[in-house]
Amino acid sequence: MGKRKIAGRRAKTKGTKTPPPIAEIVGCNVFNDAVMRERLPAAVYKTLRRTIDEGAELDRSIADVVAGAMKEWAIEKGATHFTHWFQPMTGVTAEKHDSFISPTADGRAVMEFGGKELIKGEPDASSFPSGGLRATFEARGYTAWDCTSPAFVRALGGSVTLCIPTVFCSYTGLALDKKTPLLRSLEALNKHALRVLRAFGDKKTKRVYATAGPEQEYFLVDRSFYEGRLDLMMAGRTLFGAPPPKGQEMEDHYFGSIKERVADFMGEVNTELWKLGVSAKTQHNEVAPGQFEIAPVFSHVNIATDHNQLTMDVLRKVAVRHGLECLLHEKPYAGVNGSGKHNNWSLATDGGQNLLEPGRTPHDNAQFLVFLSAVLFAVDKYGKLLRASVSVPGNDHRLGANEAPPAIVSVFLGEQLTEIVRQLAAGDAASSKQHADIKIGVSTLPPLPKDVADRNRTSSFAFTGNKFEFRMVGSSMSVAGPNFALNTMVADALARIAEELEGAGDLNSKVQAALSRIAREHGRIVFNGNNYSREWVEEARRRGLPNIRSAVEGIEAMMDPEIVELFERHGVLSRVELEARCEVMLETYCKTINIEALTMIQMAGRQILPAAAEFAGRTADGVNAVKAAGADPAAQARLLGKLCGLIGSLEANITRLEEAHAAAAAVADLRARAENCRDRVVPAMAALREDADRLEEVVDADLWPVPTYAEMLFLI
Ligand code: ADP
Ligand code: MG
Repeated sequence: MGKRKIAGRRAKTKGTKTPPPIAEIVGCNVFNDAVMRERLPAAVYKTLRRTIDEGAELDRSIADVVAGAMKEWAIEKGATHFTHWFQPMTGVTAEKHDSFISPTADGRAVMEFGGKELIKGEPDASSFPSGGLRATFEARGYTAWDCTSPAFVRALGGSVTLCIPTVFCSYTGLALDKKTPLLRSLEALNKHALRVLRAFGDKKTKRVYATAGPEQEYFLVDRSFYEGRLDLMMAGRTLFGAPPPKGQEMEDHYFGSIKERVADFMGEVNTELWKLGVSAKTQHNEVAPGQFEIAPVFSHVNIATDHNQLTMDVLRKVAVRHGLECLLHEKPYAGVNGSGKHNNWSLATDGGQNLLEPGRTPHDNAQFLVFLSAVLFAVDKYGKLLRASVSVPGNDHRLGANEAPPAIVSVFLGEQLTEIVRQLAAGDAASSKQHADIKIGVSTLPPLPKDVADRNRTSSFAFTGNKFEFRMVGSSMSVAGPNFALNTMVADALARIAEELEGAGDLNSKVQAALSRIAREHGRIVFNGNNYSREWVEEARRRGLPNIRSAVEGIEAMMDPEIVELFERHGVLSRVELEARCEVMLETYCKTINIEALTMIQMAGRQILPAAAEFAGRTADGVNAVKAAGADPAAQARLLGKLCGLIGSLEANITRLEEAHAAAAAVADLRARAENCRDRVVPAMAALREDADRLEEVVDADLWPVPTYAEMLFLI
């Protein structure tokens, strides 16, 4: 093994090519509204728009015309293939490409793509996890066009493909993907939000939808280091690694000057994303060395979900072109911050109003307080579901650690709004006029500060002036799950409020009563203090807020009768669909731990142990040589003793992990297996890691078989 250099590597900066003007790039690969308006006959365009904007059922008779226009457009862009692009329960996207080519009798070919191909696909795709849904009911999987998210073309290498966003379901219509429940949740949200708006006398608004702007954190690592580490390649995170002398304590990376190589990478990411219609907006260095963030301008949650999937894909592909690897895992490195995805979320009307924006008049503010209270109500009542919706194994290293929101869900409102909630709680329906300072329909709210001073970075669910920021979402996850959970919970709260506001009686006093009730019953969810403190864990327990510490527990909580009923009541997921989803999540958990354990066993057995043994052998030779030369070998002998102790422990811990892994694999019941992985395999992994990391601190650097934390984190 040659000497490995710590310094002196040359970053592979590609040099800045001047990109074409932004205006020419943005959306150039998207079959967007402008293209549709230009290329579709006016009547067809109008019909399609009605489906997109108002949720009217798709008129199948227009499908051929739309497909024809889409094909022409895509072929002009160089496309030879099309794909139904979908999002199975794996959390990533799937595609199966078909060429447009259809052979003719005379041995030539025509380019064909009709309404039938546009609307429905049969990718079969039977290897995707279905949680037993397909085995039980129907083997086939179908994709169906989701015309509310625009089609786009993607060029990769030399091949260009028309990608059509679709939902993926079984023959009987059971959801097999992440998008179907998201779209269903939007229906429920729209229905009940409209009821509330109507109660406020709004006759204009036709549609209410959720908006999302997910901020995406990620790490970059030099590709050569990535390829030198089986754990990064297999598990997406380091399973071994002694802490470097310097971590993030100097806070010199956060918002620091962006290195040229990274700037180059970000530039290309932006260009690629803009072409796909993703409005990448903000980029900066994050807290940990080697960590970065990209955020888009927010959009309709369905599109934001697709765009976030594209963002993750583009980050990974462009990184490779720059000799880098993009790590989307929640915790690639121990000891420095992990990565999350801050899911900014709000409610918007088709008229462009943000329903979580405080208004200027007492009437508008009453309405604002109703929507705000609906969120408080929802998050308090179904906080468990929010926590459950982010139950991926990677998040277990993050939530509750001293860097990310705790596993407890609470809402940060800021001082002024909290005071208003307090006043609302103090007054009740009958005596509100006397006791509450806030009189609905009369009082205006003071302007709320939107600046950073009133921000709380430790809250899991923070109100930030005109939107909520859900900070528990893992960096590798699809945002579909957390958003359909949120939409459904809030739809449920709005339904309850609508019932109170509809019908005869004075609106203001009904609103006052509803708000007071919510403030009293659900005010406990508000917490403005430091969520990272130990006192909060205690306080939350006193308040009766759940503290779900692991992904397994989170997934189990998803099957609570209350949550099953919630999803069923709003037609978002049936019991079987939800059960299937939980099964897939538990399976994913077990598989992840399984891969990590096997990777550790291999790395420890075939790389770390041999390196340590080699060094121990050399040290032993040294002891003998020193002794033979007549000097005192005590120091070397002590080192040898330490090495042998650690090697012995490492070897024993490899065996223990092998045993724990085998025992977990043998557990038949899925839930018990997942618990076994968490309670037996994960601790065995931790014990093995400790020995290896201690060895890394004493073994000759030139013998150490894998790149170190210092190299991976700082050499970008
Ligand atoms: P931060 O200080 O947390 O970075 P920003 O104001 O920059 O906050 O916004 C972060 C993200 O929130 C951006 O992606 C932005 O588009 C998104 N965002 C802003 N307004 C809304 C909204 N009404 N609904 C959803 N997301 C929004
Ligand atoms: Mg943020």
